[in-house]
Amino acid sequence: MTTTNLGTIWAPSIECAPVQDLRQRQAASFQSMMVRVRSVPFYRGRLEGRLTESSLPKLADLDQLPFTTKEDLREGYPFGFLACDREELVELHASSGTTGKPVVVAYTAEDIQTWKAVMARTMYATGVTRSDVVQNGYGYSLFTGGLGFHYGAAEIGANVVPVSAGRTDLQMLIAEDLGATILCCTPSFALYLAGEAENAGRPLQNTRLRIGLFGAEPWSEEMRATIESKIGLIAFDVYGLSEMIGPGVAFECAVRDGMHINEDIFFPEIIDPDSGCVLPEGSTGELVLTSIGRQAFPLLRYRTRDLTSFVPGLCECGRTLRRMRRIIARSDDMLIVAGVNFYPSQVESLILGVAGTTGHYQIWLSTRDLRDHIEVKIEAEPGSGGVLDREQIAAVVAGRLRDNIGIRMAVSIVDPGALDKSVMGKAKRVFDIRGEK
Ligand code: ADP
Ligand code: ZN
Repeated sequence: MTTTNLGTIWAPSIECAPVQDLRQRQAASFQSMMVRVRSVPFYRGRLEGRLTESSLPKLADLDQLPFTTKEDLREGYPFGFLACDREELVELHASSGTTGKPVVVAYTAEDIQTWKAVMARTMYATGVTRSDVVQNGYGYSLFTGGLGFHYGAAEIGANVVPVSAGRTDLQMLIAEDLGATILCCTPSFALYLAGEAENAGRPLQNTRLRIGLFGAEPWSEEMRATIESKIGLIAFDVYGLSEMIGPGVAFECAVRDGMHINEDIFFPEIIDPDSGCVLPEGSTGELVLTSIGRQAFPLLRYRTRDLTSFVPGLCECGRTLRRMRRIIARSDDMLIVAGVNFYPSQVESLILGVAGTTGHYQIWLSTRDLRDHIEVKIEAEPGSGGVLDREQIAAVVAGRLRDNIGIRMAVSIVDPGALDKSVMGKAKRVFDIRGEK
């Protein structure tokens, strides 16, 4: 552990290793991974003839190797990607599986140690110490969020309160009475909790909460500012996905200029999602990850569908781990309305922070007179202005959306409580009912 004027570093020998050493370490881990991959039924078929002792691919040849997709994982359900005996497993999780079967993610005892280590690096970087009380509002279930943050906090020696997601009343009590200093949950839940506390006349600014670790869904810089002011804490972005390990793939340090990727464990590439070609540094594309440090469930060039770019250069904090920018969206979340392509996060950036609104919103796509119609509903703050005020606010927001995105959107400011909100985990903000009667 190291403390610098730019925060605390859990594993400086890895996080701040000379780049050359890190590359060597990655190459060696990749070699061990290829040995493990030989026992994965799926890869034996996919890489036929390329996995003999003498011809194992090297990290330098990574771009010649095939991708692994979410569909491949579904095909391999439940254990087609396992690289070890079932007896070696100590834990199983699954992705939320919004469509069809979930993806089952398996961990050996060593994988759990790895998870604890990457989560300790993540949480320590934001300033979590053993004196902290961690209110863990991520769901404890097959979802990796709950246990991931739990393991990280426990590894640091902090006091974890495993409240899980939901239960606003209980969350408020924990923040108020147990003196929680760290809040871990999805950004949408943080916003919701802050609003409920405010409405109950018990604003979270009055608690000891000082740091928030938010992730598991896309959110914008504007959402960060909103949450920070409503709760009175410093908010950090944490990225991960079940297929790699869960949370702990990439994290923000005190500089908060991109997320450091734990690239000794997860080797990153950014590709053009259409051609599959690796893009030059700095270009935005799809993040592809190879889990070079995983035992039970090693994935080769996994297409995350998450869009981001590398941040060029080294970070001021002293870490040499490469950084990636905030996730813009999943590639399949792109909206195409009246021929214009955009992401929900662009809408979010433009509508947050408008006076008299809470930050909760929904985007509704429908068909009217055979044409695409888009309506953005934004929740009014309790006690804020009358109808005229609302119409004025809506007109300003609509103008802003039209100028920046290039299409007309209907904007309505709706009553407090009129929008169904995410209480449990990831928020659903886009409702596409085009084609529905
Ligand atoms: P599912 O794929 O079923 O939603 P996961 O819980 O594994 O299950 O979700 C991982 C996904 O969540 C990532 O691929 C990414 O799209 C999103 N995600 C996770 N962390 C962040 C973050 N900090 N910012 C934006 N999106 C995130
Ligand atoms: Zn940094």
